[in-house]
Amino acid sequence: MSSTNAFAGSLFVVAAPSGAGKSTLVNALLAKEPTIKLSISTTTRAPRPGETHGKEYYFTSAEDFVARAKNGEFLEWAEVHGNYYGTSRLMVEDQMKSGTDVLLEIDWQGARQVKKLFPQAAGIFILPPSIAALEERLNKRATDEPHVITKRLLAAGGEIAHAPEFEYAIINEEFDVALSELTAIVRAARCRFAQQAARNTSLFAQLGIHAE
Ligand code: 5GP
Repeated sequence: MSSTNAFAGSLFVVAAPSGAGKSTLVNALLAKEPTIKLSISTTTRAPRPGETHGKEYYFTSAEDFVARAKNGEFLEWAEVHGNYYGTSRLMVEDQMKSGTDVLLEIDWQGARQVKKLFPQAAGIFILPPSIAALEERLNKRATDEPHVITKRLLAAGGEIAHAPEFEYAIINEEFDVALSELTAIVRAARCRFAQQAARNTSLFAQLGIHAE
């Protein structure tokens, strides 16, 4: 049990179809729980207006991405909506080793790869309250071209089909309720026995508690 967890930091994987309000929820969580570090992914997608290199993503070319993927620099990577997205292996492992909790905002393909590497990672799926609400949110987000929105709507169904692979499901109908549920999941995951044992090694030794 505890021996499967080599790192003191917890790992959270949050996935959702586009338009479920994932980023807004995650940003609100990070404001409440500032010790959690959000992993900044690398992508070959073009920056949207207002996006900055190093803030939302590290933007790069397909050529550079593929070379780095071959070099093993990504903990996981996937092609989503025709672009590559990947998580930095170094960032995640360094933070978790030093006891910092890390949150990944990635798609189901990436979540599956992460689960294989870190079975203790808490997988959280954000669901929209209805298909109509999802469509409305996607249309309101005018940052993408109409054909991109259509592509994302189709992809949303594909993403949702993988929701059962996650441990937790949050229905984002009332923002405050969804945020308190997300916070509760994060806090509960931190209290898992193995996490507490990895984080409080000297206390556990003092108390004579030995990991199984
Ligand atoms: P967007 O282009 O709208 O920012 O993101 C599109 C999709 O790519 C979202 O589902 C997002 O979660 C996913 N994504 C972002 N970064 C990563 C990553 O590093 N790895 C994987 N597998 N998916 C990612």
